Amino acid sequence: MQTLSTIGELQAAADAARVAGKHIALVPTMGALHKGHISLIERARSMADVVVTSIFVNPAQFGPQEDFEKYPRDLVRDSAQAQAAGTDILFTPDVAVMYPRGFQTYIDNNRLATILEGLERPGHFRGVATVVTKLLNAAKPHIAVFGQKDAQQAALVRMLARDLNIDVEIVVAPIVREPDGLALSSRNVYLSPEQRKNAVALHRSLEKAAEMVRAGERSLDVLRDTMRAVIEGGNPTKIDYIAFVHPETFEPMSEVDPRGTLVVVTVRFGDTRLLDNEILRNT
Ligand code: AMP
Repeated sequence: MQTLSTIGELQAAADAARVAGKHIALVPTMGALHKGHISLIERARSMADVVVTSIFVNPAQFGPQEDFEKYPRDLVRDSAQAQAAGTDILFTPDVAVMYPRGFQTYIDNNRLATILEGLERPGHFRGVATVVTKLLNAAKPHIAVFGQKDAQQAALVRMLARDLNIDVEIVVAPIVREPDGLALSSRNVYLSPEQRKNAVALHRSLEKAAEMVRAGERSLDVLRDTMRAVIEGGNPTKIDYIAFVHPETFEPMSEVDPRGTLVVVTVRFGDTRLLDNEILRNT
């Protein structure tokens, strides 16, 4: 595995791979790698000749009161894990490389970036869209792999690639969970042992909704009320939202579409926000 930290080096490596007829896959991450990230790297490995994993804690996607400073960072451990999972090129730029003095061009999105997570975290998706565009232009991948864990981010990236004619295939990989159902997240380390135990309520609420839809329930109000009760059993600080949307467009639903309705939940335990989601279907 090669470790590169400037845009020029990565672009040169990408050009050389393309000239050699090789397919490149990019896996963007913020590090603190866990099995969710590893599954994306393995997916990339199975689809391409050259796997580029990026590790960059992107200041542009954190709000002023958010956890940019305390976000977990461990490059030595991440580097070993990324290599073991099949990374060929680890890209670890610092902030000055990604946002040099005078940087002033951002990518925005009018709808997806301003609902749900975009409402709760103003400016977040502007930061995400900008950094993803920059990483795509640096790694020049044929394929970029994202996690369904951040469903709205995955939808936004798909939209971004389509709207801006970026010639890349966006692959979305399934959510990897702990044995008790909690979705893996770099932020889970912030949870106290008590909160960690209670956080399983998120996945339980999704499972309950999935089971009700399979049994024929179509009312979003009924599903939302049931999910709320299950989550409240875990004693959360706040439920930010429980929303039912089209899995790709994120258009709001008025009732369950049994062919696929995405339910997204965001819950706070103390200052820690946990996200989870599931596609509800009738089978
Ligand atoms: P992050 O480092 O949190 O920015 O995440 C980098 C990528 O890993 C994103 O595409 C996430 O959606 C994905 N990811 C994070 N957690 C999981 C998980 N539990 N399962 C699958 N993918 C994940």
